[in-house]
Amino acid sequence: MPSKSELKDRYRGVMDRVAAAAERSGRRPEDVLVVAVTKTAGPDEIRQLIDMGHVDLGENRVQQLQQRAAMTDEFLGRRQQMGGSDATEAPAEVRWHMTGHLQRNKVKAVLPLVRLIHSVDSLRLAEELEAQGARAERDVQVLIQVNIAGEAQKHGVALPAVEHLSEQIETMVRLQLRGLMVIGPNTDDPEQNRDVFERAADLFREVRASGVNTDRFNILSMGMSDDFEVAIEEGANVVRVGRAIFGDQTNGDPDDR
Ligand SMILES: *Cc1c(COP(=O)(O)O)cnc(C)c1O
Repeated sequence: MPSKSELKDRYRGVMDRVAAAAERSGRRPEDVLVVAVTKTAGPDEIRQLIDMGHVDLGENRVQQLQQRAAMTDEFLGRRQQMGGSDATEAPAEVRWHMTGHLQRNKVKAVLPLVRLIHSVDSLRLAEELEAQGARAERDVQVLIQVNIAGEAQKHGVALPAVEHLSEQIETMVRLQLRGLMVIGPNTDDPEQNRDVFERAADLFREVRASGVNTDRFNILSMGMSDDFEVAIEEGANVVRVGRAIFGDQTNGDPDDR
């Protein structure tokens, strides 16, 4: 496990690069939200990040998310009992994001744990989220995952189908459509993904202009460790960063990488 100061340095480095990219695109650093994806992180590192004041955490798998949300709950509970007396910037709560493919039979388990689901990729999944949201009397905030580059191995809605799915979600009572999520193709050269991110930003504007509730359709989630700066320059306001913060070690589930 890397030392505390290594994690701190990497985290500060990512936050500085996010801030610089936001400024290059005419925005303020606080206009871009960083979701720290914990799939390669160990529990200690997650706790250290929270102690640095970080709030938004992401996971790809429901089982990992359940374990980790229970862990962060317990950790924050203990922090509160201590009355915030020691030198910690730990927030009162963390917000978990579901970033991975979600199966319909897992919806019920994940719903109480997450603030935002980034990965709605079918009408049937949207309908299940609506049904379970209604049952729990709880609004459900979602993004539509778009497969911009048309990659066969990736989840996500094909570009031409996005507007129709967004219209269908808008008719649902408990689902609140907050925006779009895009995963750039794997590449060594982030510039290669600029075009994909530019098309995603165009699509985002088109859907916004198509009659969705624009008060809440305001999230464009794109950019990961290898390409978050380019994504921000092209308009991302949420980035999902794992390895650049936690390093490349395999504390998490190797299948996820
Ligand atoms: C793993 C993952 C991330 C983070 O990836 P890194 O390359 O480690 O930054 C972001 N989004 C999704 C959907 C992921 O699966």
